[in-house]
Amino acid sequence: MNVEIDQCVKEVDTILSKKGLKIEDLHKELINSAKRIAISTIGKRINDSCDTEYDPEQCPEIVLWALGLVCEIWTLEILRQKTQEGHCYTHKKKTGEPCPIGSRFHENLFNEAKKSFQDVLIREDLLRKA
Ligand SMILES: [Zn+2]
Repeated sequence: MNVEIDQCVKEVDTILSKKGLKIEDLHKELINSAKRIAISTIGKRINDSCDTEYDPEQCPEIVLWALGLVCEIWTLEILRQKTQEGHCYTHKKKTGEPCPIGSRFHENLFNEAKKSFQDVLIREDLLRKA
């Protein structure tokens, strides 16, 4: 399975570019994106021996797996970009340069987000070994 990083970022960017979209309505759009990602990257999983089948459009395990990837990838991508740019409307306006304070602010968010994702994976490894 190859995760399409660019596709994940583009899916969320497209959703967020829709005018008038409220954060409360984001989930429906994200689920539709997750289904597209699930179909293109994870696909249908079949275990003939046990007569078990996971449909990438309907199975919560697969759709939420893809949703997790979409959210994680987009969040890290946007925070990394904002770390580089500073993403500051106050100081950049005056100097025209990326704001170092804004960069540090976003770098802290990026590091916290990344660590939270890493912590989940570390926990899973520990549980598998227990
Ligand atoms: Zn600033």
